[in-house]
Amino acid sequence: MKLLKAFLTLNICMAAYLGDYLVFKSRFSDSQVFRALTDSAVHASLGCLSSILFLSQEISFNNTACIFHIGFCTLLSSFIDVDHVFVAKSIYWKDLTNNKYRGIFHCTTFWLIITSILLTYSYIYKKINIYMLTWMIILAYTSHHIRDANRRGLWVYPFGHTPPFSKSLYIFLVAILPNILTVVNVYLKPDIYRHTIINYNNIV
Ligand SMILES: [Zn+2]
Repeated sequence: MKLLKAFLTLNICMAAYLGDYLVFKSRFSDSQVFRALTDSAVHASLGCLSSILFLSQEISFNNTACIFHIGFCTLLSSFIDVDHVFVAKSIYWKDLTNNKYRGIFHCTTFWLIITSILLTYSYIYKKINIYMLTWMIILAYTSHHIRDANRRGLWVYPFGHTPPFSKSLYIFLVAILPNILTVVNVYLKPDIYRHTIINYNNIV
């Protein structure tokens, strides 16, 4: 299991490094459409790998439940960028890529509040499906925000933006965070969850 975690962590580093090269420095990078699509794919890959790493510790999940959670985290990691449409009030590439302001989904405080409420509620009322989906949301927004922080910093309302993260700091954080969250979940998970097998039927 430790080898699998190390392998996945290495894959996260490679996806971030090679993904950024593809988005910003490849010979197709002049195309706004190519950059938007590959950027979205890199966010999705980081969310996907982070959720696989997280769920590799979950013995209570069957295969279908794993696929559902990984799929949810992957899509959400990419979906966060949909707020560019809300801010630009347009669906045209040139408007989406020239936003001065960031949308609500890029505000770290917003997700911190939402996920804290959901985790507390599901922990107290023992709603295992909401509890696990909340961890997927946490993995999705942290990987997305840390990667974006390389260019624009983290937006921590009401304190404003941090300075942009260096490349090495962002890759280190995006790789180490799913490992830390996995340990936090292992220790925090209520006892009742340890004896519950999660399958697709009790998710939908
Ligand atoms: Zn973004």
